Amino acid sequence: WYRKGGYHAVRVGDQFAGGRYIAQRKLGWGQFSTVWLAYDTRTSEFVALKIQKSAAQFAEAALHEIEVLSAITNGDPSNSKCVVRLVDHFKHTGPNGQHLCMVLEFLGDSLLRLIRYNRYKGLQLNKVREICKCILIGLDYMHRELGIIHSDLKPENILLCSTIDPTKDPIRSGLTPILEKPEGNANGGVTMSTIDKKLKRRARRAVAKISERRASMGGGAAKSKRNLDGIDMRCKVVDFGNAFWANRLFTEEIQTRQYRAPEVILQAGYSFPVDMWSFACTAFELATGDMMFAPNSGQGFGEDEDHLALMMELLGKMPRKIAIGGAQSKDYFDRHGDLKRIRRLKFWPLDRLLVDKYKFSENDAREFAEFLCPLLDFAPEKRPTAQQCLQHPWLNLRNSAQDEMKNEANLGNVDVGMSNLQIKVGK
Ligand code: ADP
Ligand code: MG
Repeated sequence: WYRKGGYHAVRVGDQFAGGRYIAQRKLGWGQFSTVWLAYDTRTSEFVALKIQKSAAQFAEAALHEIEVLSAITNGDPSNSKCVVRLVDHFKHTGPNGQHLCMVLEFLGDSLLRLIRYNRYKGLQLNKVREICKCILIGLDYMHRELGIIHSDLKPENILLCSTIDPTKDPIRSGLTPILEKPEGNANGGVTMSTIDKKLKRRARRAVAKISERRASMGGGAAKSKRNLDGIDMRCKVVDFGNAFWANRLFTEEIQTRQYRAPEVILQAGYSFPVDMWSFACTAFELATGDMMFAPNSGQGFGEDEDHLALMMELLGKMPRKIAIGGAQSKDYFDRHGDLKRIRRLKFWPLDRLLVDKYKFSENDAREFAEFLCPLLDFAPEKRPTAQQCLQHPWLNLRNSAQDEMKNEANLGNVDVGMSNLQIKVGK
């Protein structure tokens, strides 16, 4: 990890850009970068410092991300479009080479952390609506004003403007910034072994979380619900590392698996509607705590085919013309438009799923499904645009506090597993 061409090891108190930025603590990391909370001594504000790995291909990717971020920031002088702002960028030379660094406005926890914090129980629909509005404002801006496709929209890449735990928010808590290296910093840095330990701890925690989640699904001792009152649900879209201009050629395989649109799997050509598909998957996950599609490979079939099967079980059969229309179609569909290896599908439409598995009221389920289903049209050109979606009446509905309480009580007692209903037969 921390070797030539790789990550730059940062220690608390490290200075960047000639002393302007001082590292405070690690916020997160991705495939190509580590992200640190830093203090900007010029503006006296906290910022997020994204430090890219140094090898040439990562530098190139960072230059691209900076180009997109600059366009996004310049096009939104009033800072009202729900996208992260680029404050500055520079190069930093360390023992592993030269790293491109992006200085971003400091934001709070990701929606993935919010979902986890809420113990995978699904957020109140009123909160889901607020979050959806922000994401759609961001998408509409990117798509219509800039012609940019994000192509990696998912809960992890949407950050709250506030923090789940206000005591952890340096701005709200009025924390004094660290201006100098703490004593004994030789051990305070991040080394290979601390990363390893962290990853192992994280893996253990993930396993514990899953068993906790299973226990609650089985109707076991339900943990008391989290109080999310007072958390501002405004959020912003981040991570433009995979974003691109729709009129420029890009790679064939885009998007994170679970949020990938059918036209990408089938290689039938794609454009802005891929983001609308991922948006719908994200909205579902916020409201239920579960991923909408979590495909697996199985005996005699691959992840792609399982993914297509899951889509059809929820949304109905894919029209034949679309099913056989992609460059990859022959791998999965026969000439009648039926899947080759997964022959029996158990249809479980979205509104029923919301009622049966997630205990939505009939009314909430119908309204939410009416909002989501058009976004999940197999024909990408039929999906509403972000602009059209912003006009949807669902976004302006309001559940009473009583409704929301009923929903939450129900969500704690889920005992039906989707997996029980899926039957697959090998070839
Ligand atoms: P990558 O392209 O490597 O996936 P991201 O831009 O998604 O990098 O950032 C990785 C992680 O760093 C995010 O998931 C988040 O936890 C944290 N992060 C990124 N940008 C910010 C920001 N502006 N404010 C606070 N945390 C951030
Ligand atoms: Mg990311």
